[in-house]
Amino acid sequence: MVVMENKASSSNFIKNIVSDDLQSGKVAEIVTRFPPEPNGYLHIGHAKSITLNFELADEFKGKTNLRFDDTNPVKEDTEYVEAIQEDVRWLGFEWDDLRFASDYFEEMYQRAVLLIQKGKAYVDDLSAEQMREMRGTLTQPGQNSPHRDRGVEENLDLFARMRAGEFKDGERVLRAKIDMASPNINLRDPALYRIAHAHHHRTGNAWCIYPMYDYAHPIGDAIEGVTHSICTLEFEDHRPLYDWVIEECEMADKPHQYEFARLNVTNTIMSKRYLKMLVDKGVVESWDDPRMPTISGLRRKGFTPEALRAFCREIGVSRAYSVVDERMLEFFIREDLKLKAPRTMAVLQPLKVVITNYPEGQSELLDAENNAENEAMGIRQIPFSREIYIEQDDFMENPPSKYFRLFPGNEVRLKNAYFIKCEEVVKDANGNVVELRCTYDPETKSGSGFTGRKVKGTIHWVDASQAVPAEFRLFEPLLLDEEGDSDKEFLDRINPESLTTLQGFVEPNMKEAKGQDKFQFFRHGYFNVDPKHTSPELVVFNRVVSLKSSFDPKA
Ligand code: ATP
Ligand code: MG
Repeated sequence: MVVMENKASSSNFIKNIVSDDLQSGKVAEIVTRFPPEPNGYLHIGHAKSITLNFELADEFKGKTNLRFDDTNPVKEDTEYVEAIQEDVRWLGFEWDDLRFASDYFEEMYQRAVLLIQKGKAYVDDLSAEQMREMRGTLTQPGQNSPHRDRGVEENLDLFARMRAGEFKDGERVLRAKIDMASPNINLRDPALYRIAHAHHHRTGNAWCIYPMYDYAHPIGDAIEGVTHSICTLEFEDHRPLYDWVIEECEMADKPHQYEFARLNVTNTIMSKRYLKMLVDKGVVESWDDPRMPTISGLRRKGFTPEALRAFCREIGVSRAYSVVDERMLEFFIREDLKLKAPRTMAVLQPLKVVITNYPEGQSELLDAENNAENEAMGIRQIPFSREIYIEQDDFMENPPSKYFRLFPGNEVRLKNAYFIKCEEVVKDANGNVVELRCTYDPETKSGSGFTGRKVKGTIHWVDASQAVPAEFRLFEPLLLDEEGDSDKEFLDRINPESLTTLQGFVEPNMKEAKGQDKFQFFRHGYFNVDPKHTSPELVVFNRVVSLKSSFDPKA
């Protein structure tokens, strides 16, 4: 069994680098940052990056900033800025400084002017398509733009006019002057600034030119004194450009970029673009739909920050491509809730049972443990009377052999209550079973020490007269196949049956349940009270995870 760690104690290659850098005196203090673009909600992949950055700085008594990479106004929005902050905090992390790339737009502009003055950048009039054609390929060098050798004065003038709004989107770009024959395509005079006449969620209409990620990111890191700028492996080939910007812009602080492999999880979409499509097309209710792999979706489904952090630590940090089994995520939430969640009874698909020898109008209270594995959670009392609900699945009129639950003539134990025996089956005009008539044996009360005879099945139930109506939402993966295994159109791969809604009952004491309360329902798994759909009339439960899995991450 995995013991949950409180500290990020296991080692990884980035931690070793940090430790060496501190020991050798290369850096005095470690500073990291988590740099999301506010163009969607965070997903479980971001949780890995967040946990890595914050815990690393924590362990070495350094700092972590939350920096919004808000350089693409068309796709960005304050709704996302707020949701991202909420998610980072909920995961259990507090940033040292909250920053925005847009805080540095003026400095970035001035550094670009410096590049022009040094002959390291020029304004190009080529269209995006022309630039693409002239960029060359992996095997062929690119060609110089006809505007590459413009004089400094002309470049300064054009760049100022770009800023002043004299040109339309796409008419000019500022490019770094590096090497059109470089084997690294990222160094073939990459664009540093583009024109976008768009309203920005923070700077409004102050700017109509915006820095590119590869230019903005290193400058932001350097301004904030970030020492270890950690990103995913697809940026490895951008590192020479990152270093070029730091050097040529004459930044005083010299951050370094380190890359690790992104998190992939089976059956899970891990791209904001596709997640946004699911929201926009109405496939899911919202970004925090419990089927979404977003942090807010996982929260609403019933995941805890402890489980997500433990998962992120367990998967570790490396440079090797891998896909993590989704059952590993489930393993960690079961581990976390096992001793924390009260264990109660819920009937998801009710079948009424009348106990014919129990006096009408009478009822009693029975003791039930709140968590058989955690005595400290104490005991509650549940009502029992003449009519109860059991699960439709727990009765079969013509059972196969080895079926130990209810069938005509058979006796089972009601969890925390009595033995009951099925005497009669009541059907409607179509032959559907609508009610069972049973007898109970008062001698067999749970906890009474009764040893007279044994039964092989124990089933759960709730008292019909006091049960609280509830809705249960069960989830299946949103995608029918595993990501990457199919070229089918994304929307054709969607599972039409990812949500099943059932109407049933829970124990009367659950009337008080509030959004985000978590329970283990006997035999059904862990459930979370949905904070959006629960009303005074109806409690809605999301299933976090079923009870069992054969999966063991340590196996
Ligand atoms: P997406 O493609 O989903 O939009 P992104 O990388 O464009 O992801 P950003 O907001 O730019 O999203 O990411 C912020 C940080 O989170 C980056 O440092 C990025 O490397 C990291 N990150 C994003 N996805 C993953 C992932 N699957 N695993 C680990 N880290 C990730
Ligand atoms: Mg991005």
